[in-house]
Amino acid sequence: MFENYLAVVDRKAKEICAVADGIFDHAEVAYTEKVSSAILADALEKEGFEVTRGVGGIPTAFRATFGEGRPSMGILAEFDALQGLNQAPGSTVKKTIPGPDVGHGCGHNLFAGGSFGAALAVKAYLEKRGEGRVTLFGCPAEENGAGKVYLARAGVFQGIDAIVSWHPEKMYMPRTRPALALITVNYAFEGVSAHAGGSPHLGRSALDAVELMNVGANFLREHMETTCRIHYAITDAGGDAPNVVQSHAKVKYIVRALTSEKVRALRARVDDIARGAALMTGTKVSWEVENAYSELITIPTLQKTAYEAMRDIPLPVPTEEENAFGRALQKTMPLTELPKTVYAEKLLEPAPAVAHGGSTDTADVSWCAPTVQMHIGTWAIGTPGHSWQAVAQGKSSYAHKAMLYASKAVAGTIMRLAEDPLLLERAKEEQREKTRGGYICPIPDEIRPAIPE
Ligand SMILES: [Zn+2]
Ligand SMILES: [Zn+2]
Repeated sequence: MFENYLAVVDRKAKEICAVADGIFDHAEVAYTEKVSSAILADALEKEGFEVTRGVGGIPTAFRATFGEGRPSMGILAEFDALQGLNQAPGSTVKKTIPGPDVGHGCGHNLFAGGSFGAALAVKAYLEKRGEGRVTLFGCPAEENGAGKVYLARAGVFQGIDAIVSWHPEKMYMPRTRPALALITVNYAFEGVSAHAGGSPHLGRSALDAVELMNVGANFLREHMETTCRIHYAITDAGGDAPNVVQSHAKVKYIVRALTSEKVRALRARVDDIARGAALMTGTKVSWEVENAYSELITIPTLQKTAYEAMRDIPLPVPTEEENAFGRALQKTMPLTELPKTVYAEKLLEPAPAVAHGGSTDTADVSWCAPTVQMHIGTWAIGTPGHSWQAVAQGKSSYAHKAMLYASKAVAGTIMRLAEDPLLLERAKEEQREKTRGGYICPIPDEIRPAIPE
C-alpha cells in the first residue's frame, strides 16, 4: 500500500541522510540547537513546507506545514544532543573528535532525519489527495529540558487529529510501554555558618537538613505505591571544609508516579519532609519546580495501525560490513552473551503494556492529540541509550537504512489514518476517554524554559 509515496523516501535518501549527518556534526544541547534546528527547518522550507520558527516562545522550536483542511496530521522531530558524549562516528573504540564534548547519544539526529523523510512522503500523498495537512513539529530540549511540555502549554499541538512519532531503539515495534508522570524539584536549605570545632553550638547546618530530608524520603518509600519512584541528588553539599558548619545546601528530587495527580500527592509529602528537616535543624527551606512531565496516553488503535504500516515495509538487511561494525561494538557492551543477530531482524507485535519506570516529554503531546510512537532498531542489539556506542553508530550506514525505514513507517501510518476516517475517529475517542478532565500542564505557569541568554 502507498508504495508510490513511500518511494519518495528512497528518491530523497541523500537529502534525508544529509539532514541527519549535519545535525550529528553540529551536536548541540537542549535549547542551544540553533544550527540543528535550522538544518531541519531549512530542508523542509526547501521542499515546499511553510515554516514558522520560534513557536511557543522557544527560539529553536518550529512548525513546518504543508496542505490545507482535514485530516490535519502531525509528526514529531527532535534534534538535541547530550553533554559529555563527544565520540568519533564509525569508531569501535571510545575516541573523541575535535569540538565540544557533546554527542548524539540518544540518536536525535536520526530522529530528525527520519521524520523529515516521513514529511516528504506524506506531502507527496497529500498533493495527490488534494486535501489534508501535515505538520512537522521541530521539538527542542527533549533531554532534561521538557521542551514539548512548554510547547503543549503554549497550545502548539492543538487542532491536530493525530500525531505519529518514532525513536531510535534496538527493536522494531510500536511503543506500548507507558511512561510515568514526574516532577523535578530543587530544595534549598539555608542555615548559619560557624566554626565546627570552636563554636558548633552557634551553627545551624544546611547539610544536616539535606541528610535528614533524604532519610525521611527513604522511610517514605515503604509507604507509597510500588509504582512510584523517588530519586535525589545532592547538588550543593555546602562546601568542602568539614570544620565549617555548612550554611547552604541543595538537593534535587525527582518524584514519579502513574499519573500527574499521584505525583502531586506524593510530592506534597516530600515537601512536608523538607519542612520537617528544616524544623529539626533550625534551618530555612525553599523550593522551586525545575520541570515536570505528564503520564503518556497510549492509543491501542494507533499502535495497531502503526504495526500494520510497519509490516508492509521490509526491514533493513545489514551487510557483512555493517554486521562486523555492530559486532565489534557489542563486544564493548555490558552483555552477558552476544546476541544471535547484530541488529533486530523481526518486527514485534504491539506487546501488552508492562510497568515501566521511565518518563518522556512526548507524554504531554499525547494529552493534546492522539499520539503514537514507534521503536525503530537503528542501533545494534544491546546498545545502551546515552552511551558512546550509540554516538558511534549515529552516522553508520545501517542506522541510515533503519532511519529511512522509520520515514516510511511514520508516513505509512499517517496515510492509513488519512484514508480511514473511522480509524481516526476511534483513535480520538480512545484519547478523549483517557484524558477526561482535560490537559493541565504539570509545570507551574511562572516557570519558563531554561533557554540560555
Ligand atoms: Zn535521551
Ligand atoms: Zn531520545
